[in-house]
Amino acid sequence: MEYINYQTQDQWQGPASQQSPIDIVLEQTTPRPLADQPLTVSFVGDQALTRDPRSSGDQFIGAGTLTLGNHHYHFLRLHFHDHSEHLFDGQRQDAEVHFVYQDDQGQTLVLAMLGIRAADGEAGFDFAPVINGQAGSAYLNQFFANNQGYFNYTGSLTTPPLSPDVTWVVLDAVHPFSSGSLALIHDLFADNYRAPQPITVPVYHYYESGK
Ligand SMILES: [Zn+2]
Repeated sequence: MEYINYQTQDQWQGPASQQSPIDIVLEQTTPRPLADQPLTVSFVGDQALTRDPRSSGDQFIGAGTLTLGNHHYHFLRLHFHDHSEHLFDGQRQDAEVHFVYQDDQGQTLVLAMLGIRAADGEAGFDFAPVINGQAGSAYLNQFFANNQGYFNYTGSLTTPPLSPDVTWVVLDAVHPFSSGSLALIHDLFADNYRAPQPITVPVYHYYESGK
């Protein structure tokens, strides 16, 4: 499998629309009550996620649903980025997981989970069973809490063809990933992140007030 080359990403040709990823600067986001557009994520099935090698990076195919407000999506696949693609206040995190969804009209939504190395003595999220074909989709449920805040903007895929009109849901918390998971992600997908792109659209921050 020939993978895309991140060293030559400045030559990638994309549409002249809002591209992803972006640097999310909290002070420049527009706050919204989470109750206006709650996020619900659920994964189903004990059958191991299927690994699908693609030039854009290996995909892990599973099953589940996501609801954003009244809009329903079904889960297609996830993949990993070694170092995060989205930045928080200019800071790159250790890894980013992209959960790719589609609605009945074929519109794409990507849920992004940014991770940082778990503190000493903290287990952290363990993605090794997913990568090693030992976990079903339902295994992923443990990584999602209720009422999670998130950033929401309209961007693009972060690999060619850089397709536009992708709904992004970037969880606003940085999650602890196990050191074993980060090592595995680095070994398999070293430095597969795209540089942040200029921001031309509003970025909304949905969160529970008081949190
Ligand atoms: Zn991705």
